[in-house]
Amino acid sequence: MNKLIIHQFECLSDNYGVLIHDSETNQTASIDAPDAVVIKRELKEKNWNLTHILVTHKHLDHIGGIDDLKKYYNPFVIGPKYEEESIEFLDKTVLDQEFFDFSNRPVKVIHTPGHTLGHIIYWIENDNVLFAGDTIFAMGCGRVFEGSHDQMLDSLNKIKELPENTIVYCGHEYTIANGKFALSIEPNNKNLCSRIEYVKELRSENKPTLPTTIKTELDTNPFLRTDSLEIKKNLDLLNSDSKKIFSALRTKKDNF
Ligand SMILES: [Zn+2]
Repeated sequence: MNKLIIHQFECLSDNYGVLIHDSETNQTASIDAPDAVVIKRELKEKNWNLTHILVTHKHLDHIGGIDDLKKYYNPFVIGPKYEEESIEFLDKTVLDQEFFDFSNRPVKVIHTPGHTLGHIIYWIENDNVLFAGDTIFAMGCGRVFEGSHDQMLDSLNKIKELPENTIVYCGHEYTIANGKFALSIEPNNKNLCSRIEYVKELRSENKPTLPTTIKTELDTNPFLRTDSLEIKKNLDLLNSDSKKIFSALRTKKDNF
């Protein structure tokens, strides 16, 4: 089986649009639908027809384009059962651990509550790729709007369990701001320091810092590093468990 072609592009102010295309079946899915105009433009440029939309969560900057794209291409829209009341035009709703088929490969649904209660992410093992929406970002994680800090930590732990070389696409370009926070809390992490230099360079040339990999995040993302001695020391929580560390980190970042 050939690999999916994955095309990432900027949308709205700091969102990423992602199209995945299989050249054997000619199917194309949009991961979320931040902006119909931009997604249409990219599809036309590639000469792809939109057959699917995979929705991660109900926020407007992820679903705002569905209406238009549905009218124009009539794609099959898949999204979280947990948020079906808040997302229009869903053709199929999916639950945690459920599999469905896209272009003859299984897509696994993983429920990652925290940012919203119904948030889901999509893992395609065949192509070694994860579409993580607003659960994890480069050196950061989603704001916890609806769930609890404990829930968000559990969700990130599910991501940690995937193979380290998994390529991770995220919903937003928040990398520079996330990096500043990460550095403030773990300034002696050498991997972090060199990553920050690298992403600064990328951004100065207006290039995306994503996708990332699980391995890169394990090395540099403070929200996956609740066992780091340096982070614990800097939070003054040397003897606390990962739940306390994560919660302190998330609160600190909210006020950073
Ligand atoms: Zn969101």
